[in-house]
Parts: sequence; structure tokens; C-alpha cells
Amino acid sequence: MDKRRVNVIRGKLLSWYAVEARDLPWRRTIDPYAILVSEFMLQQTRVETVLRYYEPFLDRFPTLRALAGAPIDDVLKAWEGLGYYRRAHNLHRAAQVVAGEHAGELPRTIKELRALPGIGPYTAAAIASIAFGLDEPVLDGNVIRVLSRLFRIGGDPAKAKPRDAMLAVASQLTSSGDASHLNQGLMDLGARVCLPRSPRCHECPVACECDAHHAGEETAYPEQPARKRVPHIDVVAGVIWNGEPSTPGSRILIARRRTGDMLGGLWEFPGGRVEEGETNEQALVRELHEELGIETSVGAFLLDIDHAYTHFRMTMHVFHVRHTGGRPRAIECADWRWVSVEDLGDFAFSVADQQVLSALRKMSRRE
Ligand code: SF4
Repeated sequence: MDKRRVNVIRGKLLSWYAVEARDLPWRRTIDPYAILVSEFMLQQTRVETVLRYYEPFLDRFPTLRALAGAPIDDVLKAWEGLGYYRRAHNLHRAAQVVAGEHAGELPRTIKELRALPGIGPYTAAAIASIAFGLDEPVLDGNVIRVLSRLFRIGGDPAKAKPRDAMLAVASQLTSSGDASHLNQGLMDLGARVCLPRSPRCHECPVACECDAHHAGEETAYPEQPARKRVPHIDVVAGVIWNGEPSTPGSRILIARRRTGDMLGGLWEFPGGRVEEGETNEQALVRELHEELGIETSVGAFLLDIDHAYTHFRMTMHVFHVRHTGGRPRAIECADWRWVSVEDLGDFAFSVADQQVLSALRKMSRRE
């Protein structure tokens, strides 16, 4: 890209950002820890969702040392509902590493940032440019869309060649200072103007420099890789009672998922996948025996929950279950507890299991 074009795009983008920047709470701070939290939350999650979690999380853990010293259960509880819980584990571990090895100060180089748990190239560059003002380019989904259109960069952006081409132009744009505003300007342009299906080119500050716009091919970029079919699975889960459901003093058995498993560290209503040829009830009895070593009898159906994860969709069939024998053991889980309906809210559950929680609360209010 020639120098004139770099300067024109830089100038127009910075002027636009100065007026149009989204007012986001993590943009009102220069505290590297607060920016670190926002970048972890924004990995794979929309800004609108993060807005509901960011400030309560910082109220609960106002400093890096507060987070580092907190039990992981408290961190997971504050993260409950935000999804991708590996991020919560990584953020907690990253805070502990910074507290232990960097005297509580977030390191300032890309190399040291990349060495922290859960920090990949994007998050390292975002923190380096936004928190420390380093001239580092970032490529997220919004930035990729803008750059691929501005410079008509074809090919699947997940592949090395197109990605390198985008990184090269992003580096040119950010190499003469103001990387923080330029990166965030590109992000905001992608989020508000250069929209995936109907870009608002008439509002775009860099339309005069946009190759895809001149060619009338805005939506041909970035190239969309062929969609893979997302598999669907059926799973069962049991609300396991130690007596009659919802009678005074009755308790529910919950299990904690193993760290390293999907949704690791969260609590769940135990169960598992329905295998071919099994009824839901048979699958539930088998799963509860395998996971906790207990005997059970399956009672009334409670509800079905449909939920989509990144790589699969599931329908979870939830039943009331009676514990009939065997002391629970943590065989395929990390821990277990007998808990009253009122105390379930003290534990961190996945979004799907929170729907079971709501159904139980409604049931208990009715009774
Ligand atoms: Fe996107 Fe249109 Fe602006 Fe090009 S002119 S960057 S396609 S909004």
C-alpha cells in the first residue's frame, strides 16, 4: 500500500473514531487489569452480552490481586452465563501468574503477554495496543471484514495467506502511532457501518479508498468458508432427590464437572449422552451409575432444553429421579453435594442447567 493511501485511511478513520467511538466501559479506563478482563470476556462473545457482566465482575474482583486470590468457584459464579468457561479458568490462572511472577503488574511485551494462560495473538495485540499504546495490529471478525473489503483481499480469512495479507495492511495502518484508536476504529467501523450483509457505504469514512465498494462487490468479501453441518445429540439429566420431590428437607444431588472437560469446574444436574438403542430413562440410570456409582429410579419428566454450542447442538431431556441406593462417589465427576433447592443458587451452573434451576424454583413456589 502506498504511503498516501495509508495516510488517507489513517486520517479518515481516526477522525471518524474521535466522533463516533462506541461508549464502552472498558474504554473509560487505562487500568491494564480492567482491559485484560474485557479482552477475555470479548473472546467469542458479543459486546452487548459482555456489557452485562463486565462491571459486576470488576465490582467483585476490583484488582488483579483480588482475582488472583479468589477461589475458582467464586470466579466461575461471577462468570456464570457468559459461556466458554475455559476463559474464566485461564483469566484466573493468568492473574495468579502475573501476581506471582510479575509483581502484580501486567507485562508489556507481546512475548510475555503471550506466555500467560489464555492469551493468543489477538488478545496480546489488543492489550498491547489498547493498554500500553504499542503499535500492534489486531485482527478480529470486524477488522477482517473491513480490511478484506477495503483492499479486496480474497480467500478464507482463517487461512495463512489471506490472513498474512490482512496483517500486513493492518501493520502499515498502525505502524505510525495511535494503534489503540486505529484498532478500535476498525472494530467499530465493522460493528456499525461495514456490516456483514448490508454495509452502509454511504456513511463510511473510508468509502473513497475502498476497492470492494468501487467494484460494487462489498458483500463478496470476506470469503465465507463452506458451512459444516453442526451435529445434534440427545442428552439426559436427572434432578436426583433423596426423598419425595419438593417435600420439606428433601435435597438434590448435584455434581461438579472435571476441570479440563467441557464446562469444567461448573456444577450440573448429572447425566450424559443417550446411546443408540437406549430410551432416555435407560440412558439416565446408566449414566448416573457410571458418573456417581448410585442406583436410581427415573420418575416424572421435567422439561426439554435445546442449546447450541460451537461444535454441536443438543437437546437435554430432564427428569426427576429418586436415589435408591449406593453412596455417591466422584467417579466421572470432580465432586458431588446434596443441596436444597434454596441453596442451588450458591453454585455456578451452565446456561442450560440454569433453565432446570428456574423450573425447580417455579415448582417449589407453586408448592
Ligand atoms: Fe465497508 Fe462499504 Fe466502507 Fe468499504 S465502503 S469499508 S464495504 S462500509
